[in-house]
Amino acid sequence: MTRHVLFTAAAMMASATAIGTSPGYAQSSTGQITVLYDAFGKDAAMKKDWGFSALVEVAGKRILFDTGNDRDIFVANVKAKGVDLTNLDFVVLSHRHSDHMAGLSHVLSVNPKVKIYAPQEGFGIYGSSLPSSFYRKDSSLPPEMRYYDGRPPDILKFGRAWQDANIQLIDKTTEIAPGITLIALVSDSPGTRELKELSLAVNTPDGLVLVVGCSHPGIEKIVEAAAAINPKIRLIAGGLHLVVAPDEAIAKIVTALKDTFKVENVAPGHCTGEPTFAALKQAFGNRYIYAGVGTSLPLGPTTGAGERRGERPTLERDDLITYRKLARHEDPFGVLQSRSSRSQFLRSEGD
Ligand SMILES: [Zn+2]
Ligand SMILES: [Zn+2]
Repeated sequence: MTRHVLFTAAAMMASATAIGTSPGYAQSSTGQITVLYDAFGKDAAMKKDWGFSALVEVAGKRILFDTGNDRDIFVANVKAKGVDLTNLDFVVLSHRHSDHMAGLSHVLSVNPKVKIYAPQEGFGIYGSSLPSSFYRKDSSLPPEMRYYDGRPPDILKFGRAWQDANIQLIDKTTEIAPGITLIALVSDSPGTRELKELSLAVNTPDGLVLVVGCSHPGIEKIVEAAAAINPKIRLIAGGLHLVVAPDEAIAKIVTALKDTFKVENVAPGHCTGEPTFAALKQAFGNRYIYAGVGTSLPLGPTTGAGERRGERPTLERDDLITYRKLARHEDPFGVLQSRSSRSQFLRSEGD
């Protein structure tokens, strides 16, 4: 793409934003996803462990998606990447499994009031409530044998594991900010039946960016819900939960992602599974974006363009120059600029 076309597109995006003609879209597509927690990676400064966490910076928002499996490792990786947890727009907890939750106590220790989105479940660690009419009454009993002396509050509240946390429960798929949707689906697989999971869908001018934690409800169901927001799926990042799936099941899902949903780029991690990494890499070629712990993958018009297969995304020189120019306009936190200088430094180190 020439610089002229990119600038024209950027100008159109800016004017559409200014007059508010694109509801349901995030205002810009540039940003990056930084993987803070995973069990593979080649950044020597990062510790590897099972679990998932990523900082999603897109459309001017800083979103912490999940918090890893071990608080101390999470803290170390956050520090190694220089991530400021006091400056977040919100946190998304995809689901209640501990390999996504353990760093939350640290997040709350430095940012106690941060807004946290979590799936609404009947009972569980995120808290819940029910009308007191849910239980059968027997008014023939003396008060001391009755719940609440026979006078229950209208709503019974059930506690949460982090009592003072600012947790907002999400029951069904909800657009929580313009273009930013939490997809809420329930697993029906043995072992995780009834587990509700949130996936993060950011609808950018370049297509939808989908971040998944474990995909327990099934990646196909999640992608189907995402495609209902925007059928142009630019990127899927995160865990696809195929870590023990047989080859036939893997092949079916890879085909669905590539041919049915025409997903443009994949950046799989966490519970996707080694054989699925291999199958996705074979199917997606240079649209498979390596995303081990410590990777910062750029979002925007050039996501997935020009990287070498199975290696970190590398933009062509011309694209890179243009991309950085555009990024400077849309980079309120300066993250892309610092990333550029960091990768320049790494290149000069012979990486
Ligand atoms: Zn899980
Ligand atoms: Zn997991």
